[in-house]
Amino acid sequence: MKKLLLIRYGEINLKGSNRNYFINSLACNIKYALKGFKASIRKIQGRIIVEDYDKDYEDAIVSALKKVFGIVYITKAFETKADMDSVKAASLEAMINKQGLTFKVESKRSNKQFELTSPEISKAVGAHILRNIENVKVNVHEPDVLLTVEIRQNAYVYYENVHCECGLPVGTGGRGAVLLSGGIDSPVAAYLMAKRGMKISGIHFHSYPYTSLNAKQKTVDLAKKLSEYTQGFALYCVSVTKIQENIIKNCRSEYLTVLLRRFMLRIAEKLAQEKGFQALITGESLGQVASQTVESITCTNEAVKIPVFRPLIGTDKVDTVRMACHIDTYDISIKPFEDCCTIFLPRHPAIKPSISKVLAEEKKLDVQNLVDQALQTVEIIKL
Ligand code: ATP
Ligand code: MG
Repeated sequence: MKKLLLIRYGEINLKGSNRNYFINSLACNIKYALKGFKASIRKIQGRIIVEDYDKDYEDAIVSALKKVFGIVYITKAFETKADMDSVKAASLEAMINKQGLTFKVESKRSNKQFELTSPEISKAVGAHILRNIENVKVNVHEPDVLLTVEIRQNAYVYYENVHCECGLPVGTGGRGAVLLSGGIDSPVAAYLMAKRGMKISGIHFHSYPYTSLNAKQKTVDLAKKLSEYTQGFALYCVSVTKIQENIIKNCRSEYLTVLLRRFMLRIAEKLAQEKGFQALITGESLGQVASQTVESITCTNEAVKIPVFRPLIGTDKVDTVRMACHIDTYDISIKPFEDCCTIFLPRHPAIKPSISKVLAEEKKLDVQNLVDQALQTVEIIKL
């Protein structure tokens, strides 16, 4: 009998002819997540098996696998030969140390040649457990332990299910770049897009020396957290100091934020063309601040052609915070280091800017030259 982890996936099963592509991507991402551990991976019909790992590291392995998108359940199980003696022995092993608890046995028999029917298997295994383990009881409605016996080519006895993130394997949904600010929202936006299979990189804009190196480090720390879900993460840091100085010197202050946002998108679009990103991602949420009204977003979007995904557009802050806590970025995001958007924040930003006024302000700047200069400052940090 062999102890192992069965990786069970959901939405991937709905894929048609390209199902194997999704399964292979998932297997690759599992390998990447386990690269610090000794473990091997094997594919069987409808499942991926993780085996031959050091049992002392099982909790750490499960934690790493919980961040791999596409997995619905990690099931702790025993694999045995497909005969009743072996199944009974594995079931006893699974119920050791479960004294005082209730249990239920369920069976599935995809190997129809097997000697017993599913109800007969459940009954025989249940009786065997009751005979051999003291102080356990059957409860078919709300058992503490649900044992599932699955008879395939081999037999499997499942004894614990760990619910995971679901989603689709990272890499199956194209490539995108998140505009990563250091705030609460943008890491969550990145997480949501990665969960739909997008391979994510980050672009961070800073105004050093107006913003501190701590503010940049905070973004690096966020990128590191995200990298646990995205199987690596490249962060591109770009200085917008010159751009901000030019806007402040030449343009009406109420347009500062929307003008800066347009520059951010333009620079990001150029980087996307160079690096092969197919979409940009931001953490904007409708109405959260002046720069996130429908009018402001329309003016910002007008600067670029590349699709801009805003997965949080209809999300309340409380829900975003909950997700930020779930991915463990919240405590980093709330560290009080200033962002480039907050240092020169106008007292009365335009809440409903019109595109004609924004373009009139932008005419006062050498846009192309400023974008090119910013692109000279790109620094890549690989996590
Ligand atoms: P966040 O919590 O993500 O910072 P926010 O609620 O503070 O969002 P804004 O500061 O208005 O909102 O920023 C809106 C979006 O613009 C951010 O979610 C992010 O995608 C992008 N953004 C803002 N500042 C920066 C920055 N310095 N570098 C990269 N992207 C930025
Ligand atoms: Mg912000």
